[in-house]
Amino acid sequence: MKIAIASGKGGTGKTTIATNLAFVLAQQDRQVQLLDCDVEEPNCHIFVKPEFQTSIPATVAVPQVDQNKCTGCGTCGQVCQYSAIVCVKGKVLVFPELCHSCGGCQRFCPEKAISETPREVGIVDIGPAKSFHFVQGRLHIGQVMSPPLINAVKKAASKTDITIIDAPPGTSCPVIAAVKDTDFVILATEPTPFGLNDLKLAVEMIRVLKISFAVAINRCDVGDLAVKEYCNQENIPVILEIPHDRKIAEAYSRGELASEKLKNYADLFTQVAGDLTSQIANSLIQQ
Ligand code: SF4
Ligand code: SF4
Repeated sequence: MKIAIASGKGGTGKTTIATNLAFVLAQQDRQVQLLDCDVEEPNCHIFVKPEFQTSIPATVAVPQVDQNKCTGCGTCGQVCQYSAIVCVKGKVLVFPELCHSCGGCQRFCPEKAISETPREVGIVDIGPAKSFHFVQGRLHIGQVMSPPLINAVKKAASKTDITIIDAPPGTSCPVIAAVKDTDFVILATEPTPFGLNDLKLAVEMIRVLKISFAVAINRCDVGDLAVKEYCNQENIPVILEIPHDRKIAEAYSRGELASEKLKNYADLFTQVAGDLTSQIANSLIQQ
């Protein structure tokens, strides 16, 4: 069972939900793993305190041109949709940071002058955290291609009963790489006009992907009612409401899990975890 926590915008409590759900599910003697796929700014580790045992470089393939074979025909530059390889006055230049590793230039080079060489884009860290398995990706500074690293994090995952994925914020390629192949997505939001706007975009994206989903509202008792009204109109279940509570903020600032330190939040997340897993299990049985 794979559950992703995503959000149309950052700062809506995505990591709080992912880490606390992983923690309470692991307390129920289930095999759980948490994958931090928010690779541009992974911060689950602050709260789950992993002991990393392995760190693996994640690479992408970029073209390497054999100048002895190249005739300067320019086909590679015409094929590349990302301007990652260009031919200027018969000389081929490669811009690895723009390359999407599609392999097109290599395939269409008439002289077979292009081979692939690995380029490191980040690191995958693996190890136990509290009572579950933990994997995180760290994108190197200056790198923009996060989907290959997200895929590497998912590939490094173990086989467990439940996988919780902390997805990157937004609605672009990195989020899709994180949430595809999951059974359920929780969209974290907040009751503000910005929260509603970005929630609507995230809902559109998840509907295109045809993944079951529900909404979690963080700081539910501040702001306005527009998010709830939208969920009602769209028949979207609100699976979790987290109040604007100083105690959560204090636990967060100390790098602690609310469900580990505060009894009422242990109860809240345990109840949500139970609702969620039985709802997903039922839908998987019906498929
Ligand atoms: S397609 Fe091949 S031969 Fe033509 S310019 Fe590019 S590398 Fe050189
Ligand atoms: S592999 Fe694809 S994206 Fe990269 S340089 Fe070649 S054509 Fe462009």
